[in-house]
Amino acid sequence: ASGYSLLRDPHHNKGLAFSEKERDAHYLRGLLPPAVVNQDLQEKKLMHSLRQYKVPLQRYMALMDLQERNERLFYKLLVDNVEELLPVVYTPTVGEACQKYGAIFRRPQGLFISLKEKGKILEVLRNWPEKRIQVIVVTDGERILGLGDLGCQGMGIPVGKLSLYTALGGLRPSACLPITIDVGTNNEQLLKDEFYIGLRQRRATGQEYLELLDEFMAAVKQNYGEKVLIQFEDFANHNAFELLERYSRSHLVFNDDIQGTASVVLAGVVAALKLVGGTLAEHTFLFLGAGEAGTGIAELIALEMSKQTKAPLEESRKKIWLVDSKGLIVDSRKESLQHFKKPWAHEHEPVKNLLDAVKAIKPTVLIGSSGVGRTFTQEVVEAMASFNEKPLILALSNPTSQSECTAEQAYTWSKGRAIFASGSPFDPVEYEGKVFVPGQANNAYIFPGFGLGLVMCGAIRVHDDMLLAASEALAQQVTQEHYDKGLIYPPFTNIRKISAHIAAKVAAKAYELGLASHLPRPENLVEFAESCMYSPLYRSYR
Ligand code: NAP
Ligand code: MN
Repeated sequence: ASGYSLLRDPHHNKGLAFSEKERDAHYLRGLLPPAVVNQDLQEKKLMHSLRQYKVPLQRYMALMDLQERNERLFYKLLVDNVEELLPVVYTPTVGEACQKYGAIFRRPQGLFISLKEKGKILEVLRNWPEKRIQVIVVTDGERILGLGDLGCQGMGIPVGKLSLYTALGGLRPSACLPITIDVGTNNEQLLKDEFYIGLRQRRATGQEYLELLDEFMAAVKQNYGEKVLIQFEDFANHNAFELLERYSRSHLVFNDDIQGTASVVLAGVVAALKLVGGTLAEHTFLFLGAGEAGTGIAELIALEMSKQTKAPLEESRKKIWLVDSKGLIVDSRKESLQHFKKPWAHEHEPVKNLLDAVKAIKPTVLIGSSGVGRTFTQEVVEAMASFNEKPLILALSNPTSQSECTAEQAYTWSKGRAIFASGSPFDPVEYEGKVFVPGQANNAYIFPGFGLGLVMCGAIRVHDDMLLAASEALAQQVTQEHYDKGLIYPPFTNIRKISAHIAAKVAAKAYELGLASHLPRPENLVEFAESCMYSPLYRSYR
């Protein structure tokens, strides 16, 4: 290959870090200025220039450019600066990028499969240059973060999630494939936008939709085999539950909005028990929001409770209550409920609003998952604090503007007694001389390690017990030092180590359940996980 094309190949390009010998051996003389620098200096320079941008979207675009230019350097930045860059490559900035995707779009990333490709999806997959794919993240763009239907512009989500798979979970970039399925959009603004990059039609539904998805799922299995992980991301809830159910017995599928969220929140709750006391089954849970996140979390908590108490799942579910847009979910509403809400319709008289539900149920744990901001009002938090010594309050709705309450509100309204974590990050809060550090229930704690665990053992199916194993592994990473600050999640700085522990637990469970195909089982799974992880350090080309 010529030196010129080497510099334009993002998988191999090192820019000024090519050594003298490499410059001689690979026809690079004259194509680079004389200075030779190392990767650390390149990183320093890039972080410096990134910080010059005050607009987050500009940082996002600069990072995407870097990914297209020098992949290893991009991942080096991400690995070494997780806490700073996570909000740029992922929520909240990625949301803005999706909204403006048509305008900032330069070179396509990922694979687009639209209704136009119906009947030809296998051929489309074969157009992708990499053949050994281990993880696919796929969206149909109908429910992007809390931003609604962004159609084809949802591509920013699978691209962003997969860069976290690599940076936080150590999956090789070449083994990751972002896909957007375009069946149209019901977003009127996009349909009218002359720069819109997707199909200009309303969403296909029903039979037409399912046929495309069936073809896609079959083509993926045919092309990449049974061990490729397919992560569904940001599908609207009317499809999300059904698709997970439909393919979970034939494919290795995982829905991060339902299962990943459940696993990360269960981990936080389990860790919080060290601070609030009691066993899981001794607590009473109330959710505001009964969609993918809410019912997914509720189901996993009930499952873990049943494992601990040996009581039937039905019994455990009775400790968990949910409120949706029509009020408390109770038995008299059962007929008209969507199927994923039915298990939660317990015996109780109707209750219209959250405050009354809190007073009636007297939960010890309050979880917000409705996507609607400011719903944990002062009265709600005060009610929680009136019958709990240490109320556990999780305000999960994203982005920050949709959070049920702020960290400061949770701490002040509960007079410093609440244990609080949120979906979007909040700064530490000082209340009466004490500093409280709110935790972030970020899905990025779980899915990268979870995926690594599945891939490294060659798992062929996802089992709920693997989600429980991942929660347990994450909760174990919270130390006394973290608890002392009120934290129920570990800091992100050590995320690769955390991911290795999660991967090990998940793989161990897969072996135990007979769902792992890579035999024999490695002795030390944590070490094995670490040895599988992609390193962004440059390699020398001799
Ligand atoms: P979803 O499937 O659309 O569910 C939303 C639920 O909230 C529905 O049950 C809906 O009620 C209910 N709801 C809407 N408005 C309400 C109101 N005013 N009062 C009471 N209930 C209301 O959405 P999702 O995927 O579960 O996501 C929900 C939120 O959780 C989003 O903001 C998302 O960003 C956040 N989330 C956070 C994390 C995390 O922190 N790690 C992970 C995933 C999701 P109906 O069913 O009656 O319509
Ligand atoms: Mn999501």
